[in-house]
Amino acid sequence: VLADGSEVRCLAVVIATGVSYRRLGIPALDRLLGMGVFYGAAGTEAVAMAGQEVCVVGGANSAGQAALHLAKFAARVTILVRGESLAAGMSDYLIKEIEATPNVEVRVRHRVVDGRGQYRLETVVLEDTRTGRREEVAVAAIFVLIGAEPRTDWLRDTLERDGSGFVLTGRDVSLDGWTLDRPPMLLETSVPGVFAVGDVRHGSVKRVNAAVGDGSVAVGSVHAYLAEAAELRTRPG
Ligand SMILES: Cc1cc2nc3c(=O)[nH]c(=O)nc-3n(C[C@H](O)[C@H](O)[C@H](O)COP(=O)(O)OP(=O)(O)OC[C@H]3O[C@@H](n4cnc5c(N)ncnc54)[C@H](O)[C@@H]3O)c2cc1C
Repeated sequence: VLADGSEVRCLAVVIATGVSYRRLGIPALDRLLGMGVFYGAAGTEAVAMAGQEVCVVGGANSAGQAALHLAKFAARVTILVRGESLAAGMSDYLIKEIEATPNVEVRVRHRVVDGRGQYRLETVVLEDTRTGRREEVAVAAIFVLIGAEPRTDWLRDTLERDGSGFVLTGRDVSLDGWTLDRPPMLLETSVPGVFAVGDVRHGSVKRVNAAVGDGSVAVGSVHAYLAEAAELRTRPG
């Protein structure tokens, strides 16, 4: 069902709806989106940070990877973590790499509460989560990696999803309600003929090349499914 209420009938569907990145919800920073405030991986912007001070907000693996990538270019990278340590949300190998990288600093028990800048971000206001003490620091950019959510509520009663809403495919699908003799194909969901690709898929790596790869595999699977459906329709009995 489309947003205008119209319905489209089809034999196969590929779901490629990606994820939405969780926002800080700070109006001053929302205004500077793309002008020193970035959500998600720091891929292409990192080079432009050469010699500058930047912050990474978040305490999970994506934040650690972004910080290490930025550290190759920026003068200093400060990771801001609300909790007591990185250990709660980040893999050990990343923590060790961060500790061994001299221009990466970790500030635990700190969160961003405000920011300023006329044409692009100039400063952010940090708050110590224990004492409430605030301090304004100059930064060229902040990279916010505080989680990504798939927008899949509309699939709630239709497809199997994991606890975070990512769509299960292939071997992750439980076979309880599965209606065909064969198991689900690699990118097939719990409904035969419905496929999920890219970031929305449970277990995907959240990279462009992986999403593109999923897409090309799904095309082959759709053809296989359509051929199978045609054969089932013509089979006697
Ligand atoms: C700031 C940022 C930088 C990144 N940098 C890199 C990088 O350098 N290298 C890299 O490999 N990856 C990077 N990534 C990750 C990469 O963008 C994703 O992995 C990739 O785009 C996933 O592709 P996708 O097709 O699954 O989803 P998306 O590219 O997110 O596309 C999903 C599309 O579906 C639409 N949509 C959602 N819901 C519906 C609906 N109900 N109906 C219709 N349409 C809908 C959305 O509007 C969107 O257009 C970055 C991500 C971000 C946010």
